[in-house]
Amino acid sequence: MKHTLFITLCVLQFVAGAQIKKAPDRAEGEGPWPQLIIRGVTLVDGTGAPPFGPVDIVVEKNRIQQIAIVGSPGNQIDEATRPKLVQGGKELNCEGMFLLPGFVDMHGHIGGSEQGTDAEYVFKLWMAHGITTIRDPSAGNGLDWVLDQKKKSTENKITAPRIYAYTAFGQGTNKGISTPEEAVAWVRDNAKKGADGIKFFGAPPQIMQAALEENKKLGLRSACHHAQLGVARWNVLNSAKAGLTSMEHWYGLPEAMFEDKTIQDYPANYNYTNEQHRFEQAGKLWKQAAEPYSDRWNKVMDELIALDFTLDPTFNIYEANRDLMRARTAEWHQEYTIPSLWKFYAPSRVSHGSYWHNWGTEQEVAWRENYALWMTFINEYKNRGGRVTVGTDAGFIYQLYGFSYPRELELLREAGFHPLEVIRSATLYGAQALGAEKDLGSVEIGKLADFVIIDANPLENLQYLYGTGAIFLNEKNEAVRKGGVKFTIKDGIVYDAKKLLEDVRKIVAEEKIKTGFKITQPGAKDNLRK
Ligand SMILES: [Zn+2]
Repeated sequence: MKHTLFITLCVLQFVAGAQIKKAPDRAEGEGPWPQLIIRGVTLVDGTGAPPFGPVDIVVEKNRIQQIAIVGSPGNQIDEATRPKLVQGGKELNCEGMFLLPGFVDMHGHIGGSEQGTDAEYVFKLWMAHGITTIRDPSAGNGLDWVLDQKKKSTENKITAPRIYAYTAFGQGTNKGISTPEEAVAWVRDNAKKGADGIKFFGAPPQIMQAALEENKKLGLRSACHHAQLGVARWNVLNSAKAGLTSMEHWYGLPEAMFEDKTIQDYPANYNYTNEQHRFEQAGKLWKQAAEPYSDRWNKVMDELIALDFTLDPTFNIYEANRDLMRARTAEWHQEYTIPSLWKFYAPSRVSHGSYWHNWGTEQEVAWRENYALWMTFINEYKNRGGRVTVGTDAGFIYQLYGFSYPRELELLREAGFHPLEVIRSATLYGAQALGAEKDLGSVEIGKLADFVIIDANPLENLQYLYGTGAIFLNEKNEAVRKGGVKFTIKDGIVYDAKKLLEDVRKIVAEEKIKTGFKITQPGAKDNLRK
């Protein structure tokens, strides 16, 4: 999602919102130790390899040193084969558990003043869900703010994932960018300030061309939400050819595959700043594009793959469009959605992504058809060797930080990905898209110690990865919860993921007492009285 956008003569400009509170000094996590041995775990390494184990994983100085197979399933572990603990080392017994690489959220806004979500709240929700790396697509709290949090996260002075800052194109300028020369100057300045990349929302072709070429020359990466205002003259294919490295969401992709039109079939009364119009008509867009497996569809797909272009679909952030009730009644809202965020989600002509003026059967049915066509493209892109990543865009449209991540995994599964393909997108492919695969993204010798450990098999049910776990009927005929990440490990520091979630629950409970706010559904009688 994007924040405030306004249009000057010829450029979309991003305005950084007021800032939220930075994360407090780290009070959570144990380690790192000179040596950490994780014992007896079943490994899903992120490369696409099937699970194997039990293994002992040895970490030294935050690098994976050894992955030792120490037995076969169901048999007693052969103690003689096990790596030995050195003095001052730490053992973590994880027999019967599963270990995966730390997750990468490629579309993670660190909240904002509109949502009232301080960094601690957002970071802990992410870390509680095993997300050890995020890309902030627009540095919405300002680049300096994000770089400060990035540095503190790198030094592990705060409890937070690793942060990659992609500044919103034009951020910090008063009038926006209206010439290619200004674009090039801004791109150079952005690199000099220490940003990891740029997030575009679309701009006139000559400006996109100049900015993307310069950014690529400097070795930085980029993301783009191709906003509807710009797609008639610059779509995803134009961006990919000019050097864009990843596209966000999906806008600009159907437009690259129009055959019987050149502009989306907008009704005459359409107004882009009316978000009911914007999202309702978007639900009719995929079927205006070339049919799956047609020549045009194939050609665009193959060209994007040849350019090593990454798709970051963020399926979950549109899910309310196909099932609004599911999104707004998700079971975690009561305890984990902070009141200010709940208010932000509610139908409104002001907040972004709260376009429920009149949303019902017609819109939801159209969106289900939209999803089917979109998922067909994404799944086939993966099948032909294209890179698809996991991004959530949480903090909008009833999608909560952290919780939206397993949902995105489930939607990739729905699109046709094997669970191992889902996990690879969440880990190795995310790291590749960030240019960080040397250190991150898979459990291999020499890489950094970022792990997710869970007491259930997520390949069997991705819902085990929700902080609230999945419902499971045990042998005593009791409905219990299974799963929820147990440990999140970042840089060899072990976090009790359930404790992080409990911290968030307390933050929310205190905020409710302070404000006297109860979470009720929009239009409910309780709510009307306020
Ligand atoms: Zn976004």
